[in-house]
Formats: sequence, C-alpha cells, structure tokens
Amino acid sequence: MPPSVVVVGAGFAGMTSAVELARQGVRVTVVDRLSYPGGRSGRYDRDGFMMDTGPTVFTMPELFRDIFRRAGVDPDDYVAFRRLEPGYRAVFADAHAIDGRGRLSTFSNPDQMYAEIETHVSRSEAEGYLRFRRYLEELFAVEFPSFIDAQLNSVAALLRDPGSLIRLARLRGFQRLPSVVEHYFSDERLQRLFSFQALYAGLSPLKALGIFAIISYMDVVLGVVQPVGGMRAAVDALERLALDLGVDFRYEHEVEAFVLHERQVTGVITNKGSLACDAVITSTDPGQLSRMLGRPFRRRGGLRWQMSPSCFLSLRGIRGELPNTLGHHNIFFASEWSEAFDDLVGHGRVMADPSTLISVPTRSDPELAPQGAHIVYALEPTPSLEGRFDWERLSDGFVSRFDRRLERSGIARDFETVVRYDLDPRDWARMGMDAGTPFSVAHTFFQSGPFRPSMVDPTIHNLVRTGSGTTPGVGLPLVMVSGRLSAGLAKDLLR
Ligand SMILES: Cc1cc2nc3c(=O)[nH]c(=O)nc-3n(C[C@H](O)[C@H](O)[C@H](O)COP(=O)(O)OP(=O)(O)OC[C@H]3O[C@@H](n4cnc5c(N)ncnc54)[C@H](O)[C@@H]3O)c2cc1C
Repeated sequence: MPPSVVVVGAGFAGMTSAVELARQGVRVTVVDRLSYPGGRSGRYDRDGFMMDTGPTVFTMPELFRDIFRRAGVDPDDYVAFRRLEPGYRAVFADAHAIDGRGRLSTFSNPDQMYAEIETHVSRSEAEGYLRFRRYLEELFAVEFPSFIDAQLNSVAALLRDPGSLIRLARLRGFQRLPSVVEHYFSDERLQRLFSFQALYAGLSPLKALGIFAIISYMDVVLGVVQPVGGMRAAVDALERLALDLGVDFRYEHEVEAFVLHERQVTGVITNKGSLACDAVITSTDPGQLSRMLGRPFRRRGGLRWQMSPSCFLSLRGIRGELPNTLGHHNIFFASEWSEAFDDLVGHGRVMADPSTLISVPTRSDPELAPQGAHIVYALEPTPSLEGRFDWERLSDGFVSRFDRRLERSGIARDFETVVRYDLDPRDWARMGMDAGTPFSVAHTFFQSGPFRPSMVDPTIHNLVRTGSGTTPGVGLPLVMVSGRLSAGLAKDLLR
C-alpha cells in the first residue's frame, strides 16, 4: 500500500502540495472546512454575478503552469490566462490636474512603460525606469532561487550560501526600500508606484527593506495576468488536476485535532470522523494550529508575532456606466503617504487618507456578470483585529466614509448596485484567519526566512506546514512555492 498523507486546506498551497505528492504515487486526502476549493481565493455568486472574494492580482503564472507540467499535462488544457496590459492604472491625488499628469498606467512591456513615463513624467525618469528594471532583474536572479524557492528552516540554512547573502547586500537588499527606489526615480509618484507593493507583505513601503522590491518586480515588471473565467478558474483547474491524479477531497470537514503517538501524527480528527495517515501537511493559520496543538502562539523568546494589516473589501454587482478611465486594476493613491502608513502599520489605526485598489474584472472578462453589468471590487487596507480600531462600534461610520470616498472619486456616481457583499476583519476572523487578517504574519526581517513559523514542526516530526503562514510567505506565487517545498519535505519523511 502506498503511504498516505492528509493535506489540511484546499487553498493554493494545500492543493499544490496535494498535486506534487499524488504525482509521485502518494495517496492524498485533502480536507477543508469550506464546501468549495480556493480558501482565501473565495467566491460569492449572486444574481448572475460571479465575484471572486480574495486575490485579484495574479503574478508569475509560470509557477502555476509548472505545477501542471511537472504532473505531465498541458496547463492550457485546464485554464487559460490573459495578460493585462496595462497591469494597473494608477490615479494620483492630483488626477484632476489640467495636464492630466495624475494618471499613469503600468506595462510589463518595457517600451510601452518607457513611453508612458516619458509622456506623462519625463525622459530622464523613463531612463531611470530602465535602470530600475535592470536592477530588479538582478535582484530577482539572486533572491528568488536562494531565499524564496529554498528551504530556509534555520539560520544555519540561511548562512549555507554566504555568496548570495553578500550579493543581496551589494544590491542594497538590506537598505530601506525608499532609498533604493529614490536611486532611480526623483518623481514622488513613481517612487510610490514602484514601492507600494511592500504593503502586500504587511509592511510600510517606507520601512521595508530593499529585498521587498522583488514584489514590485513580480507586479509591474513581470506583469499581471487574469485567469479566463476569474480567479476561481485557476482554483478549479488545480482541483481538477488533483482529482485527475486521484486525490480525494473531503469538503465541509473541519480538522479539530491531531491523533498523536510518540511525536508522530497518525491521523486527524474532523467534525465528520477521523482519518488515519502517515503524515500531515497543514495550511491552517499558524495561530490556529498552535491552539489546536495546545501551544502558545509566540516567537522565540516568548515575543508576540506581529501580524500584517488587514483589509476591508466591498464587492458590488452593478448596472450602469463606469468611467472610461477605469481599467481592470486601478490604484487610487491618496495624497497622504508616510502619515497613512504610520497610522496603519505603526499605530494600528484606519488611514485618515487611504489609498484604494479598485478592480473591475468584467473589463477583461464580461462573462463574469450579466450583460451590461459589471463587478467592482474595492479594497482598502485596514488594521487587523489586533489594531486600535473597534469594528463592533465603528464599522457603520467606516463603511459610510468608504462609500462617500468611492462616490467622490467618480466611480460610484452613475450606477445602480444590484448586489453588494462587504467583508471586514471580523469576517476574515470568522473564516479562521489569525487576527482577522488575510495576510498572516508580517514579513518583517525577524519574521521572514528562518525566523518565520517553520515548515518543520519543532516536536511532531511528520507534521509539515504550508501556505502563507510559513515560508516563504504571503501571496499566490509564494504559497505555490510553499506547497511544492512542503510536499518535498513530506515525501522525504515517508521514505
Ligand atoms: C481580499 C484578499 C486579497 C488578496 N489579494 C491578493 C492578490 O491580489 N495577489 C496575491 O497573490 N495574493 C493576494 N491575497 C493573498 C492570497 O490570497 C493568499 O496569500 C493565499 O491565497 C493563501 O493561500 P493558502 O493556501 O496559504 O491559504 P488559504 O487559501 O487560506 O487555504 C487554507 C485552507 O485551509 C482551510 N482550513 C483552515 N483550517 C482548517 C481546519 N482546521 N480544518 C479544515 N480546513 C481548514 C481553509 O478553509 C482554507 O480553505 C489576497 C487575499 C485576500 C483575502
């Protein structure tokens, strides 16, 4: 009988692990408390609107497509991707200035991006962009293979490759991100456009280290794609591949505890009964896992984990006109910058003047909504439940303020809202996310790499973690890497 593994969680990480193990002959059962796959990449369907409730910005699709190739199939038989050019439309606070200089689009194509910056900013800044792009390529070539796509479960593992650490230091990876970006751009808008992505890692772009410029590389250099049929099309493709490889899915099964025997897990106990296994890979949030194992959720030395900020997400199914200037992904930058991040990351307060991501997936995929209708996805970063904002008392005021701002930006003026679905940190917490944030443990230096919750459990030797709460970290590209690495660890344990 081949060995068997239970994977807890049918998100991108868990399903990647499941596929990697199943293609190597392991018997895999995936259990999830939800009734559908995707985890944080969730869905909400009403009145013909097919809304994705999680990630919208899909980068590095080759990592996804490689999962299929390694399993010996053609990814195109499962799901197609459409490149978004422009990737984002950025709208700055001075958007209504007569010269129109408040708007700028991002293109992965270097000639188009050069022309965009030359036209709207200046030729010297466009030259700076080309130099920045070359810099990011170099940074990525060092950082990705040695520090992201690598098992960094201990400080010793980090120090095993001193050459890469030195190269990273020479590339200013350990200097602050603003000083790296300012080296290439003197225009403040461009500095913001090429550094705001640090927020995706739970960091203030003003305090993050240069190594986090790699997120800007994935985002605005490699560029953004959209799975045809929405994010759920990628999720469903991964589930279908797993099913084709014989993986057994048990939905609406919540894992409540593990069966332990002499530092080994021999099974999981769910609300619908127990399952025996030879190893477990789990993508539960690390705080939740600690509670299940009866341990405190603390860093070495008893320190608290710093959690990333959270977000408020408002999804609308609408009928009516949207401004032509609105593309698939749009970032509305506020005029405040350092104050906003001090509020959010430093003090755990809502931003007085927040920047907002507004995506309109129906711009490139009209079939996601009834004819003549659109989906609007509006996201504002907010404190997590560990912040100083009292969601119970203040959420109504927050939502009215959010709505007024949407209207002032000209987006919500001429449409009728047919469906509305809002999610705030309390909802993320109800879905099992630690501290009510979908972005897990923040990627501060001492919470990244070997300092992050490890894939390897300190005491239970056949319990492996995967997903955004462990290494390498948060976001679809990283959790797919995590899924593959944790499957490799589990496979080694089964030998
Ligand atoms: C609103 C939002 C916007 C985002 N935007 C982006 C973006 O644009 N780009 C990007 O790359 N990333 C984005 N992210 C982050 C990205 O979605 C996550 O990093 C990634 O999906 C995490 O995948 P995962 O497999 O680690 O975890 P999950 O997707 O959370 O999977 C974990 C699964 O485990 C299940 N589970 C947990 N505990 C148990 C239990 N005890 N028993 C049974 N099942 C259990 C859960 O139900 C869940 O299905 C966003 C997330 C959100 C919510």
